[in-house]
Amino acid sequence: MNDVQVSQDQGWAEIILGPMFSRKSDELMARLDSAQCAGACVVAFKPAKDTEADACLKTRRFNGQQFEAFEVHNAEEMLGLVTPKHQIIGMDEVQFFGPVLVKVVQKFIRDGKRVIMAGLNTDSEFNPFKPEVVGALTLLCESIEVKHAHCVYHPMRDATRSRRKVAESGQVLVGKNLYEAVCRDCFASLVPFKDS
Ligand SMILES: [Zn+2]
Repeated sequence: MNDVQVSQDQGWAEIILGPMFSRKSDELMARLDSAQCAGACVVAFKPAKDTEADACLKTRRFNGQQFEAFEVHNAEEMLGLVTPKHQIIGMDEVQFFGPVLVKVVQKFIRDGKRVIMAGLNTDSEFNPFKPEVVGALTLLCESIEVKHAHCVYHPMRDATRSRRKVAESGQVLVGKNLYEAVCRDCFASLVPFKDS
């Protein structure tokens, strides 16, 4: 006779996707804050934007919230910062991590953690943003939410695209002021920005 004993919380993963300006991070913070208000032990991570090899780990308050939040240079660093007391793990801007993040998230799920992630689904050319990371993470999730922004040219329309406002090439160009949120029609009809 098999006795099934469920003695601890089972792991869970959810992801919030969308273009820039769709308030993914706000939604992530709201979920983490809600969990913490209910008594959960929360920790959060985001990729460090500086690229100095010797830059140290930073701890800071996340958007004014009180839970521990770390800027890390790679996904492996999270393994050393998550402790048995942590129940909920938040991760922002997952598209900036490497494929190792998928293994790290799988481990957290197996350890019974609830992982709540946010990230870009597409880049400014409307290509999948790092499908080997964001796409794979999405396949692990019990819950997927795709958020929209508002088009800066048609504020009544949903914006599902991030349009680059400079002529730089390359998938990663960090800086919110370098992008604008646009609807599908605008994305298709507006000519690309060119250097003047
Ligand atoms: Zn539009």
